[in-house]
Amino acid sequence: MIKHLNMKGYYKADPWSIIEEGFDPSMHMASESIFSLGNGRMGQRANFEEQYSGDTLQGTYLAGVYYPDKTRVGWWKNGYPEYFAKVLNAPNWIGIDVEIGGEPLDLNKVKPLEFRRELNMKQGYLERTFAIYLGEHRLEIAVRRFLSMEREEIGAIRYAIRSVDFEGPVSFTPYLDGDVVNQDSNYDEKFWDMELARAVHGSAYLMARTRKTDFVSCMSMGHMLELNGAFLETEQEIVQRDNYVANRIPLVLGQGEEVIFYKFVSVLSSLNHDPEDMVISSVKVLAGAMAAGFEGLFKEHVRAWEEKWAHSDIVIEGDTEAQQGIRFNVFQLNQTYTGTDERLNIGPKGFTGEKYGGSTYWDTEAYMIPFYLSTARQEVARNLLVYRYKHLEKAIENAEKLGFSGGAALYPMVTMNGEECHNEWEITFEEIHRNGAIAYAIYNYIRYTGDKEYLAEYGLDVLIGISRFWQQRISWSEEKEKYVMLGVTGPNEYENNINNNWYTNKMAAWTLSYTMEALDYVKGTDAQAFEAIVERTKLKSDKEPESWHHILEHLHFPVNEKLGVFLQQDGFMDKEQRMAADLDPRERPINQHWSWDRILRSCFIKQADVLQGIFVFEDEYDGETMERNFDFYEPRTVHESSLSPCVHSILAARLGRSEKAYEMYLRTSRLDLDDYNHEVHEGLHITSMGGTWMSVIYGFGGMKIKDGLLSFEPLLPGNWEALSFKILYRGSTLKISIDKKKVSIQNLEGEGVELFLLGSKKHLEPAGSLIADL
Ligand code: BGC
Repeated sequence: MIKHLNMKGYYKADPWSIIEEGFDPSMHMASESIFSLGNGRMGQRANFEEQYSGDTLQGTYLAGVYYPDKTRVGWWKNGYPEYFAKVLNAPNWIGIDVEIGGEPLDLNKVKPLEFRRELNMKQGYLERTFAIYLGEHRLEIAVRRFLSMEREEIGAIRYAIRSVDFEGPVSFTPYLDGDVVNQDSNYDEKFWDMELARAVHGSAYLMARTRKTDFVSCMSMGHMLELNGAFLETEQEIVQRDNYVANRIPLVLGQGEEVIFYKFVSVLSSLNHDPEDMVISSVKVLAGAMAAGFEGLFKEHVRAWEEKWAHSDIVIEGDTEAQQGIRFNVFQLNQTYTGTDERLNIGPKGFTGEKYGGSTYWDTEAYMIPFYLSTARQEVARNLLVYRYKHLEKAIENAEKLGFSGGAALYPMVTMNGEECHNEWEITFEEIHRNGAIAYAIYNYIRYTGDKEYLAEYGLDVLIGISRFWQQRISWSEEKEKYVMLGVTGPNEYENNINNNWYTNKMAAWTLSYTMEALDYVKGTDAQAFEAIVERTKLKSDKEPESWHHILEHLHFPVNEKLGVFLQQDGFMDKEQRMAADLDPRERPINQHWSWDRILRSCFIKQADVLQGIFVFEDEYDGETMERNFDFYEPRTVHESSLSPCVHSILAARLGRSEKAYEMYLRTSRLDLDDYNHEVHEGLHITSMGGTWMSVIYGFGGMKIKDGLLSFEPLLPGNWEALSFKILYRGSTLKISIDKKKVSIQNLEGEGVELFLLGSKKHLEPAGSLIADL
């Protein structure tokens, strides 16, 4: 049975680690998610190495490797996506069966004592320590593993058993197992076919191919054994079945002795290797790692993490829970996407679970890009944009399938390779606001980096495709004498098929206007590039912008004059107006207790919708408008999407409401650690972690771009002593430190920077600093 309640306080508060003390099998699946490891190329839930017969979700994931599982619906309708792309559980490389005294070690059967599990975020490793008794005899076990941040195809495990007063046989059976399944599978099929599996003395390899998509993965393993401090060569048995290879290493352990078993694995995929040479390549990668040894690999791995933390750490003084929360988020972001490969993206669960399938949602553009823009090299965020550019043709085909034409592009709600692969009708077809987020991300990237050349190179093609889509999707209402957008789903998925979602209309209008501005910019600065774009996109450069302009001037935006708020959609006030605080706590989350019909009829809002628009376009609205809308919508919001609390936290901070901002901050940063949404056993909410980062930097740090310049107006929550963080900005590294009395900005590296500090324009010299009283 999976436990949902009382997660708060289950993991010990610690600034750099997540710590579980005591083993509770009903929490194991939650912990498997929380203690997940990744390195951008692959990831692994915190499954035990040794056999475990209790509840578990096995999860080994390889970036970009998926399976197109045929859609399963009752009544097929035109336009349904053919498949739902599944994040694949790949062959298991962590397995080491352990026998002690002739019995398999299985923590579901042998009760572990002094159990402790630690995710050390500073150094990026997972460690488990516990003791067991066999009869009267005590053994102490310590297992450490990491996925190398330096060598992205390497994982390493150190499995130590110390006998206090036990004497007898012990064996280790490291294996590679291709006989794996997905929990999430529409037809209970297997997704992998075995190509090769071979074990020899001291090592083994296994190569498997995905059905339909033909991705190949090849894993090679090797091991070392250390007894009482000396490395040994031992006898071993070789085990080889169709899709399983193992080496069984038996030995005898005496009282007071310690045996350390090291397992090294190389994990290669056909994304980066030719399947023909993969066995040889994987053996070579493995040999390189084994030559470095466990300690050598660990050292370089820790160095790579130091480098990541040097740019992305956030220090909160005076609040360990908040500190742990933000580091957990930043840690997961860094281990999910490293930005070295423009074919990869960030799935909502990253490498921590199967749910949600696909890899790319609007989450990337709306929630993740800001984190990577400010903490990583410019090309990391750029690669995320180029990913969408490369999918433009598919987005045009996707729109054509739905009846659009002339180069109109509708990006998918969920995708792996550019094709739509989500199969919930109301979401797939109608949640078209994602197109707006993709357009906005181009603007966001350019205004932060100044890389305007991106427009001519890639950006404009995407903007034109999206603008064409909006133009065709919007229709004229004789009744209103306005343009309207009918039948959409806004970010609030608890409303479907609504008319004139304010946020979607706003995004559409903004895209049209920005596309025209971008066209003028390229035309004015690079006539040749402009001609090339016109040619490529067959843009009717006089007619099309003209009709976009007409839409802009006559688009309907629902408002409620009496309340002075933007209306989420036409007719929103017809609903019974209730407050989330008045809901019976036993009925929450409503998506686990109410029928879909009841949810759709209610006024309850899943996540920021109008407020999402106010967050994105905050400079267009004065404080009072922001406040009226916040006070109207937040109390009706149930925050049942992980993407919700962060946006509310930022707006609350903008409004100077530090308590509300803090409440929402804890909810976003500790969403998984405290399991607010009762679903952490399925995996972590990786994409909302980008939102958590924004809630600290944009919210409490008060950072934004104002009139084209960086601007800071911080607000420290009452219980924080101090907050400091670094950001990368146009080649400079800035360190922002805030305490109760003052804010200072140091220019650690790079050119001088023009910025606003508490509303006044300042120049920050190279190596200089600015300070202001709060
Ligand atoms: C949210 C969407 C989001 C998706 C993936 C849903 O629960 O409502 O906005 O794109 O999760 O994170």
